[in-house]
Parts: sequence; C-alpha cells; structure tokens
Amino acid sequence: MPASNVSSSLSERTRTRLQGGVTHVADRDPLTVRSPFTGEEIGTVPACQSADVAEAVRTARAAQTDWAERPVEERAAVLQRFADEVLDHREELLDLVQLEAGKARLDAHVELLDVVLNADYYAREGPGHVASTRRGGGFPLLTTAVEHHDPVGVVGLVEPWNYPLTLAISDMLPALLAGNGAVLKPAEATPFCALRAVELLVDAGVPEDLVQVVTGHGSTLGEPLISSVDYVTFTGSTETGRTVASLAGEHLVDASLELGGKNAAVVLADADVSQAVRGTVHGSYANAGQLCISFERIFVHEDVYDEFVDRFVDATEALDLGASLAFGPDVGSLVGQHQLDTVEAHVADARERGATVETGGRRREEVGPLFYEPTVLTDLPDDATAACEETFGPVVSITPVADADEAVERANDTDYGLHASVWTEDADRGEALARRIDAGSVCVNDAYLGMWASTDAPMGGVDDSGIGRRHGADGIRKYTESQTVTTQRLHPLVPVDGLPNRVAAAGATLSIRALRRLRRLSPLGGR
Ligand code: NAD
Repeated sequence: MPASNVSSSLSERTRTRLQGGVTHVADRDPLTVRSPFTGEEIGTVPACQSADVAEAVRTARAAQTDWAERPVEERAAVLQRFADEVLDHREELLDLVQLEAGKARLDAHVELLDVVLNADYYAREGPGHVASTRRGGGFPLLTTAVEHHDPVGVVGLVEPWNYPLTLAISDMLPALLAGNGAVLKPAEATPFCALRAVELLVDAGVPEDLVQVVTGHGSTLGEPLISSVDYVTFTGSTETGRTVASLAGEHLVDASLELGGKNAAVVLADADVSQAVRGTVHGSYANAGQLCISFERIFVHEDVYDEFVDRFVDATEALDLGASLAFGPDVGSLVGQHQLDTVEAHVADARERGATVETGGRRREEVGPLFYEPTVLTDLPDDATAACEETFGPVVSITPVADADEAVERANDTDYGLHASVWTEDADRGEALARRIDAGSVCVNDAYLGMWASTDAPMGGVDDSGIGRRHGADGIRKYTESQTVTTQRLHPLVPVDGLPNRVAAAGATLSIRALRRLRRLSPLGGR
C-alpha cells in the first residue's frame, strides 16, 4: 500500500506550539525531523546545547520541591488524569506516532495503551511501593526500624525513537509519582511525540516547570545531562549504553540501562504449531522488527521444523506493508536510512555466507523510501552478522534443533539477555524451560505482549541487554533514596560503663546466638 495522506497531520500551528515546549536559552541550529513514510520534513526542533540542559535541570529542580511536598495521592490522581488525557487524544496521538516513527497504526496503538497501563499501574500501586515501611529492628523490642523513600530530585531520561510515545513518558511516570522532576532528551528522530506527551502531562496537572524537554544530539547533550541530574534512565543501544554508564560512573549518578537484544523463540515438538507461528510472526515483525523484545532467532524442534517453516513463510508473505494512517497495514516502515543500511548489510552478509532467504530480502521503495520486506532466513551460519548482532529490523532466522537442551543452549549463545519465548502444549514444561534461559523476561506461549502488559512485574535485561528494571516496585524505587530511621528504646547500644570489653563482647555474642534461635523458631521472632 503506497504512502497516502501522511504528510498533512502536523499543522503549522501544532508544530509551532510543540516547538515552544523545548527548553533553550538562545537560538539554536534547527534539527530536521522527517516522516519515514515519505521522507518529507515534519518540522524542526532546536539542537540544544549544554547551557539549555543546565537551564532545564535548574527549572525542574526549582519546581520539584513543591511537587514532592504534595500528598502522594494527589500525584497519583494526576497520573490517572494523564491516562484519561491519552485515551481522549487517542486518534491525534496515533497520527503523530505514525508520522514520526513510520509504524503501522496497530503498533502505534500498542504503545499508546502501554502509556495508559503504566499511568494506571503507578497511580494505583506506586504510593504503596514508596510508602514508609516498618522493618525488622536489630534487637527485638529494643530497636524499631522504618524504611522511608524520598525522591532523588531530578531524573534525566534519554530515550530512543522506536516507541517514541511510551518510551518518552512511561519510565517518567513512576519518577513523577515518587516526587521527582524530570528532564527528557527524546531521540533526534522523534521529538514531537515526546513534546505532545509532556503537554498532556501538564494538562493533567503536572506543574508546568516540573518536566523539561531538551531536543538535539545525544553526543552533545549526554554529558551535561548526566553530570547534573540525580538519576539517569537510558533506553537505547548497547553501544550508547556503555557511554552513558561510564559517564554515570564518572559522575557517581545512579542509572538504569534498557539496551538491545538478540531475542530467541524456542518451539518444542509438542507445540501447537499454528499458534506458535501466529505468535512468532507477530513477535518478529511487530514495529517492523524495531522492537527491543522482538525475535530475531527462532529455534524449532526438528520434528516440526519443516511444517513450522512452511507456515511461517506463508504467514510472513500474507503480511501487508503500508504507509497509511488508517488501521490496515500490518507492517510499517523502518525509521531511518541507518536502520535500512543495517538491515540490508545483515541480509547481504547472510546471503554471502550461504543462508537461504526463504522470503523477503528486499526493499520496497514503491511503498515508501525506507520500507523493507519481512524476511525469513534459514541455514544461517552461526558466525553470520544476523546470527550474532542485533539487526533491529524485520529479519528473523529459523534453525532446527534436536531437543530442548540444544534449543536452550543456542538461545543462550549470545552476549544479550533481554527477552525470549517458549512454545509448548505443556505449560509447566514451558515455565521450567523458561527458567533456564538467560533473559530478563520469557513468555510461555506468547510473543511479548503478556509480559509487557504485566506492569506489576519487573522488565529489563541481563548481560549486554542492560542494568536495572522498569515496571513494578523496582521501576519506581530506583527513583528514590531510601532512608532508614531506627529508634532505640530503654538505652542506647553502647558499652556499659565499667564493663570490660571482653565481657561486653561475650554478652553480645550470647545475645546474637539467642536471637538466631528465636528467629529460626518463629518467622516473627526477633522482629
Ligand atoms: P541509540 O543508542 O542510538 O540512541 C538512544 C538515545 O541515546 C537517543 O536519544 C540518542 O540521542 C542518545 N545518545 C546518543 N549518543 C549519546 C551519548 N553519547 N550520551 C547520551 N545519550 C546519547 O539507540 P536508538 O537507535 O535510538 O534505539 C535503538 C536501540 O534501542 C536498539 O538497540 C534497541 O534494542 C534499544 N531499545 C531497547 C529497549 C529496552 O527496553 N531494552 C527499548 C527500546 C529500544
């Protein structure tokens, strides 16, 4: 389906208004934003400089104190209103996401709902995650201990282009609920989604200065941002993640890093092949494969391999590519020339090394300048680039395995560890196998949505896929400093006057022995 009606969605008025949301203290060079569907210019934003970051952090910091003093229930109500705003502006947001990121409308819809789920979750559960909590004191009856969680101050968020709405805003929501301010640095390619989302936050009741947006190049803004905020949330490539981690280390700023993946799906002999095909096709080509948790490697038991490949290829060929702002096309565009170059290079390398291109393997310029056909590779050698490096495009390899052990071994044969899935009729077996896969998340009989929507459970990567987690308690407590307050009853724990140290030490040892016994006898003993 060729490009249609996709360039008219951002009016001059809207563009100017959104540009006004960028913090900059002087005129800056323009950074051009283009629609991947057509290559046409959507607009420009300022290429901010370090002075702009300083101003953004100063402004957010000044607003943060009042925000943190508001009752947490008030902040939670703002998040719920924000969820309503997002739903109320659904059509407009979907247009904007598609316009900037070139994705299919259904993919845009997934990320819009993700924003709503996160806002709703942290509004409901966030207050409990950061509430002051009684802890076991060192000495029962004598010591009480309470854990408090205070906002860190200002959180810096550096985000990628692939899910420009939800990644710009969803990781910020728990930070705000915890009482922080925020400075957001969206990807160069997708600043307008971030700017619109921040407008909706303000409409929902977030104080105007609390969330600041700086646009421009990560290489220019990374250091000034990381050196001046109190926590860094980074989502992007492993390569940039290493730079961010070293800057955070240099400035002793805590950080979470959500990075790349080379995710595997494992299809066992007892899987329902038709469901496994439906799930893995969706999991491989969602967002044209530009999804951190999409599959790039599928390992299939040899008993069902031929049937699986045949059906997978048929289902892939049935996918409709298109540049339309309507629901309809299954697969959208790649986001930029760099992404297209990577995809083409990986497929060319696979061909050179003897892989079979079962379907796809070519650009589709008649649909749009950056479209690439969903591609299935078989016979892919282990040392091919597409077997080892993240492609981040609509390319997946399918490989037969002799048994579940080999499947696990091959799934784990990567430096990454973000996400995986297991397909089997036996859910218990699937869950047991999931526990053997080195990844931050594993879906049994699902591609990724069930896990992604489980906002109460942590999500993130191991090894080169990242440090830290989003979602759940982990996803909000990281934005707090904990403080422990202990109160001592009767008398302070100091050596008794006149008592020899040897006797005091023996007495303390005896007490600890007694305490350990008590705690073994009763889980509450010695609290
Ligand atoms: P990228 O690393 O090129 O850019 C991400 C962000 O980092 C951008 O805003 C960019 O401007 C900024 N940046 C660049 N250089 C910087 C520097 N020196 N200091 C600080 N910031 C800098 O990634 P991308 O191409 O935008 O996104 C694709 C990658 O993101 C893929 O590898 C994908 O797997 C990963 N990703 C991971 C997750 C996850 O949750 N694990 C989610 C989405 C995307």
